[in-house]
Amino acid sequence: MGRVVGIDLGTTYSAVAVLGDDGLPEILKNADGEPTTPSVVLFQSFDGKDEPLVGTMAKHSAASDPDNVVQFVKRQMGNPDWRFDSDSGVSYSAEEVSSLIIKKLLQDAEQALGEEVCGAVITVPAYFDDARRTATKQAGVIAGTKVLRVLNEPTAAALSFGLDTEKNGVTLVYDLGGGTFDVTLLKIEDGCFTVIGTDGDRNLGGFDFDNALMSFVAEELSKQGAGNVLDDYLISAELREKCEMVKRTLSNVPKANLHISKNGKPYRVAISREDFERASRSLLNRTQELVEDVLEDTGYSWGQIDHVVLVGGSTRMPMVHKLIEDISGMKPELGVNPDEAVAMGAAVQAAIEMESSIDVAGSAENGLPDMPLFTAPSVVIADVTSQPLGVVMLGKDGKDYNNVVIPRNSPVPGSYSQDAATVSENQSYVDVQVTQGDDPDLNYVVIIGSKEIPLPPGLPKGSPVRVVYEYDREQTVHIRLHAGGSGQLYGEFEIDRVANMDERQLDTAVNKMKNIEIG
Ligand code: AMP
Repeated sequence: MGRVVGIDLGTTYSAVAVLGDDGLPEILKNADGEPTTPSVVLFQSFDGKDEPLVGTMAKHSAASDPDNVVQFVKRQMGNPDWRFDSDSGVSYSAEEVSSLIIKKLLQDAEQALGEEVCGAVITVPAYFDDARRTATKQAGVIAGTKVLRVLNEPTAAALSFGLDTEKNGVTLVYDLGGGTFDVTLLKIEDGCFTVIGTDGDRNLGGFDFDNALMSFVAEELSKQGAGNVLDDYLISAELREKCEMVKRTLSNVPKANLHISKNGKPYRVAISREDFERASRSLLNRTQELVEDVLEDTGYSWGQIDHVVLVGGSTRMPMVHKLIEDISGMKPELGVNPDEAVAMGAAVQAAIEMESSIDVAGSAENGLPDMPLFTAPSVVIADVTSQPLGVVMLGKDGKDYNNVVIPRNSPVPGSYSQDAATVSENQSYVDVQVTQGDDPDLNYVVIIGSKEIPLPPGLPKGSPVRVVYEYDREQTVHIRLHAGGSGQLYGEFEIDRVANMDERQLDTAVNKMKNIEIG
């Protein structure tokens, strides 16, 4: 027997929640009694062996021991070129570092629950592509848990907010976290969550607001004769930590001081909320642009929006509330905890997954408990794609171009197709190249998978073929090539995830990480 949990695996902070015996989601505090855990790993080496530390203590070490600390690893998920080399000479992938964070979250959750955790729903930003979603699932597997599914963060936030029928209507979720910004529009109707559109910037979050404040402070320090403190690696790391604290302080009070010393000389910078807001104005404006883009893309106006939900720690900044009020004329919903909503929604989904797997598979062979502890709410989620997918086609001018098959914001799960024709007599194969991006020019899109699918002999030039892209609910893509219409199946494949580990590499990673103890 065990419980299933929801995990918000954030860029800067993570959280875990469970559906309580009363059927309501609740946050599980970590071993330090905190509701969120910094997504930071300190690699300590003892006798040539790594004993990583995850959480608050690791975050504090970022200033004193920056070389051995990994932060913001979420930005590297699905990037096979990123590695962290520890002092013990071990090289870790982003999935492996993330698995340490997940392991710590699960350890603490089990301690809080007094029970084993047997499965988890892990959330991902809506704009995460196939490779990043797969990398997140793999991180869960490496951590030794059963990943019930990955769920989009804004959908999870809406789940925690919208189960109450009073919340029916069109909701805009504005999610400004530590490293990412997401905006999502969805319709909530008696337990049906239909995503209408989503957009975001994966490199826009609290971290960037910290950077803006750091630049402001560095300039002030330079005026006081401290030179360029950002040139100094250790002072920079210390300044980053202090600026984050000042930023948080300025959410509550209008002025704050920052003290720092260089070459034994103390300096003080007085910072007002206005100074900070001025220094970071362009970042806030960027979020406004993305909100307006989503409204424009989906054909909605503010008059049609019933609720605005703020998610992510950075929405505590008063300028975010003011922005929403200025552009929408509405006050954001109160009663949603921006740090906890995503994990709580994931916990609801985890309970639903557990119940349906019991309905379907019946028992513990699934690794899940054989009895539900309560009735999970009845919820239907219809999400949309965040990445346009296309196929390389031959243009009339004889040049290859990107032909979009699934535009962004198309409903998932779903099946989409593109008709084409063979270009030569007795053509022996079709090279199906799957693109990500909406520009017709292949220089501005990424080829995320390809396969040469053989054709039967003797087809005349111009024989119709149909490429079918099928998105499952977790936004994994399956591709098929048929004869014209929905005729004979010529071949099929899943995207060759060059960015992800294959089965063998995953097994190796599971074994490598299994015996690493974390603090
Ligand atoms: P999340 O990843 O959603 O937990 O968001 C974490 C981000 O929220 C970090 O960049 C924090 O610095 C930021 N944050 C947390 N609390 C506050 C606050 N009171 N004011 C401003 N930013 C905050």
